Amino acid sequence: MLAAADVATDDEHDPEGHTIAWERQQIAALRDAASATLTELVEAEARLDAGTYGSCAVCNREISTARLDALPGTATCVNCAR
Ligand SMILES: [Zn+2]
Repeated sequence: MLAAADVATDDEHDPEGHTIAWERQQIAALRDAASATLTELVEAEARLDAGTYGSCAVCNREISTARLDALPGTATCVNCAR
């Protein structure tokens, strides 16, 4: 990982495009979202191994196939997700 101290930080005078700080924020947000998705999928794999995949973790009802197709890492049915 490139240390922030190693790159130029004075990009506020570029009339075109985004600042480096803005780009860093965008990348950090993407990284955080990817990390959260990975965590959900690892947890879903554990539910598969335990035989509980597809059952809502809150109400224990079956999660619809359409919801699981759209969100394979979800642990809750649509009603409990609200
Ligand atoms: Zn539920």
